Amino acid sequence: MIKAEQKPVEELLRYLDPYNKILLVGCGACVTVCQAGGEKEVGLLASTLRMARQKIGKRIEVFEATTARQCEPEFALELTETIEKAEAVLSIACGVGVQTLVRHFPRTPVFPGVNTTFLGETVAHGVWEERCQACGNCILEKTGGICPIARCAKQLLNGPCGGSSKGKCEIKRETDCAWQLIYDRLKALGQLYKLEEIIPAKRWGVESRDSGPRRIVREDLKI
Ligand code: SF4
Ligand code: SF4
Repeated sequence: MIKAEQKPVEELLRYLDPYNKILLVGCGACVTVCQAGGEKEVGLLASTLRMARQKIGKRIEVFEATTARQCEPEFALELTETIEKAEAVLSIACGVGVQTLVRHFPRTPVFPGVNTTFLGETVAHGVWEERCQACGNCILEKTGGICPIARCAKQLLNGPCGGSSKGKCEIKRETDCAWQLIYDRLKALGQLYKLEEIIPAKRWGVESRDSGPRRIVREDLKI
């Protein structure tokens, strides 16, 4: 799931300074779960923006909306009528949601209200940790289901660096060494032999974003 954190209000007020009528729009999916951009956050942020502008004697009209999934055109387009009434949009969906609005509403300025942070898992109430960097060629089968790209500070693909100590990472002592986790997991599964296979260096230019935005085309789903 995509994780995000709300941007500081001062930054948002700076974006919105030239506008008096805005649409604040959240998303009912990932950012609702991490409590950064769902319906509740839309309500809270709308009140904060109104109060902040009132304080400096510059009123602002804030329309509020939350789409089911802002990254899906069919839901984004439901906003058409409201967007037409607004001078600008502040989206607290992830960066994908923001860009979906940009593509479908080319004449309206759209600003990001959150910092999209990572693809992560909920590990405790209110605590999320990165688990995947969407590298484009998943190697979890070789690593016991633990991702060294997202979880090793050096993104090592073939075992730990020399700094791993007592199961902790040398870059951040409170973080588990990903390669210790991989070793322990493979051992528990009776699959330590998998460590003998050399994982080739990733071809970042082809597999990842260096070669431009990646694309999936499913001919069978096209209409
Ligand atoms: S290897 Fe890691 S970064 Fe790549 S797709 Fe799998 S979980 Fe994501
Ligand atoms: S200590 Fe472990 S997790 Fe940290 S950088 Fe080295 S191998 Fe990666």
